Amino acid sequence: MYSRPVPRGPLRRVAVTGSTHGNEMSGVSLVQHWRRAPEELQRPSFSALPVLANPRAAAACRRYVDLDLNRAFISTFLTARPQPDDPYEVTRARELNQLLGPKASSQAFDFVLDLHNTTANMGACFICNNADNVFTMHLCRYLQLQNPETLSHVYLYQKPEEESYSVDSLGLELGPQPQGVLRADLFTQMRTLVAQTLDFIELFNKGTTFPAFEMEAYRALDHVDFPRTEAGELAGAVHPRLQDRDFEALRPGEPIFQMFSGEDVLYRGPGTVYPVFINEAAYYEKGIAFISAEKLRFPVPALPAPAPAP
Ligand SMILES: [Zn+2]
Repeated sequence: MYSRPVPRGPLRRVAVTGSTHGNEMSGVSLVQHWRRAPEELQRPSFSALPVLANPRAAAACRRYVDLDLNRAFISTFLTARPQPDDPYEVTRARELNQLLGPKASSQAFDFVLDLHNTTANMGACFICNNADNVFTMHLCRYLQLQNPETLSHVYLYQKPEEESYSVDSLGLELGPQPQGVLRADLFTQMRTLVAQTLDFIELFNKGTTFPAFEMEAYRALDHVDFPRTEAGELAGAVHPRLQDRDFEALRPGEPIFQMFSGEDVLYRGPGTVYPVFINEAAYYEKGIAFISAEKLRFPVPALPAPAPAP
C-alpha cells in the first residue's frame, strides 16, 4: 500500500459513492438524484462522478446481496480469476476497482467520498482510514468549521492492511436513520456536507493553504458483542443508559446491557472508553453491540497548496 498524505497536485478525479450499503438511503437517493442532475457536483476545476456502488443491493433495499461490499476489496478477490459463481459483491468490487482505480495506478481517482447511514445516534461522523492523511484531516476540520451548530466527530478506522483501498477516501456516516428509510433532514445534511467537501477540494485546487491545527478524533479499540445464550440467541439488550450515547464517556462500573433476567451488565474495562455504533442494526449479524473507542488529540501540520498541474 502506498501512502499519499498530501496530494501532489490538484484533485481532478473525484467520485461520490452511494449504496456501498444498499439500504442506507441518504447516499442511495442522493447518488440516484445526481446521476439525473450531475451539474450539482460540478466545480470550476473538476466534476465529481456520482457512483451507485452496489446497484443490486440498492434495488433490493438490502445492505448487500451476497457479502458486505466493504469486505470485498481485498487483494485475494481483486486479483483472482473471475468465476461464474463469484459472489455478486466480489464481481462488483472488481468493477469498482477498474472504474476508480486500479489500486495504486496512475489513473486512479484522486479522492472518493463514500456515503453511509447508521441506525446509531452518531450525528455526523467522518470516517478516515488513518490520521496520517493530512488532506483528509483538513477536510474533516473544514467540515466541522462550516457546521458549528452540528455535532460531528472524526472516527479513525484502520482496516487490516490488505483490505485498505488505496484510493484516498472519506466515509460520511449520518445517523440515526433506520435501514431502508429516507429522512429529509439527513438527506439535506448529507447533501450539504458533500457540497462543502467539493468546495474544500475546489479551494485546495485553487491554491488555498490551510494552517496547522490540533485534531480531536476517536479510534476504534474493541468490538463488544451482546450477551448471548449458549445457542447464540440474545440474552440482553443495550442498556437504556448507554443507548443513543455514542461518543460519550463510558466509565468502568457503568451499565452497558440490560439482561432479560433483569440484572444489569456493567462495563468492566480498565479505563474510560467512548462507545460508537451503539445498537447499529447491521452489526447484529457481525456480533457487535457497540465498538469501544479511545479519544485522541494530535497535531495536524499545515496543508500546502498543490503543485501546479503538469
Ligand atoms: Zn454503511
